Amino acid sequence: MRHIAIIGSGPAGYYSAEAAQKKFGEEVAVDIIDRLPVPFGLIRTGVAPDHQSIKAVSRRYEKTNLGDNVRFVGNVTVGEDVSIAELQDLYDAVVLATGAPNDRALDIPGSDLKGVIGSAAFVGWYNGHPDFKDLDPPLDAKSVAIIGNGNVALDVARILAKTEDEFAGSDIVGHALDGLKQSKVEKITFLGRRGPHQIAMTPKELGELGQLERARPVVDGEDFPDPGDDAMLEPGMRKSVTHLRNFQSEAADAQHKPIEIVFDFFAMPVEIRGDDTVEKLIVERTELDKDLRSTGTGERYELECQMVISCIGYRTPPIEGVPYEHGRGRFANTDGRILPGLYCVGWARRGPSGTIGTNKPDGFAIVDAIAEDIGAGGRKAGRAALDRLFAERGVETVTFRDWKKIEEAEIARAREGSPREKFTDIADMIAARD
Ligand code: NAP
Repeated sequence: MRHIAIIGSGPAGYYSAEAAQKKFGEEVAVDIIDRLPVPFGLIRTGVAPDHQSIKAVSRRYEKTNLGDNVRFVGNVTVGEDVSIAELQDLYDAVVLATGAPNDRALDIPGSDLKGVIGSAAFVGWYNGHPDFKDLDPPLDAKSVAIIGNGNVALDVARILAKTEDEFAGSDIVGHALDGLKQSKVEKITFLGRRGPHQIAMTPKELGELGQLERARPVVDGEDFPDPGDDAMLEPGMRKSVTHLRNFQSEAADAQHKPIEIVFDFFAMPVEIRGDDTVEKLIVERTELDKDLRSTGTGERYELECQMVISCIGYRTPPIEGVPYEHGRGRFANTDGRILPGLYCVGWARRGPSGTIGTNKPDGFAIVDAIAEDIGAGGRKAGRAALDRLFAERGVETVTFRDWKKIEEAEIARAREGSPREKFTDIADMIAARD
């Protein structure tokens, strides 16, 4: 029997468990350990609440968990309840699938002012992550600046711009919906340090911005290269740029929509100013060098705003004793191998890139590496020893069956038309399984 512990129950964790099931059949016991009492990581608290079709992938993970050889062990903080070294003693392979939940720092003066928020916190707030339920973003802001031109920036803008009706069928948490109903937002500005040909927004998601009930995208044709240059772009990027060009040509038809979503390209925030709370951004115009990197031109201007949300990427939190690559914010690894018996997968391996599906080949590749390294395995004590350790320490874990009870309770308390109302307190989650 091979014993595998996977830390993190998001997509990378579950695809790795599925791969182990397929590779080793009955000859493997996989424990998926998570800090929260509820599984699915980014699917539950990262993917936007109005993207239910993406969230539906959790059914596949559920199927994996219903096999006898995969266990969910929730409510366990690695580093407090059990150490990585202890897990390495107990399991033939320990796989870090911890994702990248920390914001990349916005390293400019004023980023500690009230009203400056990282996307991890804002996304966690509207998705009911227990760590961010008390965020209380300043939704009386009339002007909001969003830094970054990626899909997270798009999610954040869309959530800020939608009407209550547009959230029908979503599982946005009650506190966020109530707050957003009071929103005073009139203008949302994306600040992209490079140009339309360098955006990281994918076409399907960008297209949604043109369909909003009360918000209209605004682009400046002056920012675009010659239309003929679009032919050089790879097909996905070309589609995104076509959406941007269409936003411009369709602008007149959307004039009646009161909220502007402005694409400010070649714009690099250099300072945030305000008296305790954010009042304005100082932005520097940029241009691209020959390697398509942005450089400041020295021209500066001000953008009045009362909230700044930085959506500039994420970092994997380091774990003491585990080699870490600080520049890229992920574990130091070679094809997922960190140290003998210790592996990483998904965003913890490659950094925050790709779609949910990108984690599938990642999960299968890491299991191939494990198979190569441990052969028949069987030298470690596995889950029985973990259970003994937790019993000695009084660690109260949450099982997949418990999760199904929590899920049932969340479904039962959903507002009309919503699939669930998530618990945002860990104590409430645990109480719901009893
Ligand atoms: P991302 O795609 O890497 O985009 C980050 C953006 O921030 C880029 O525009 C980048 O510009 C900019 N940026 C980075 N550092 C900056 C700085 N110091 N100052 C100003 N701008 C800066 O990251 P993400 O949006 O966080 O998304 C993470 C991953 O999740 C991506 O793979 C994304 O596609 C995926 N995702 C998918 C969906 C979906 O619905 N399909 C939703 C959310 C997220 P440069 O290009 O100039 O570096």
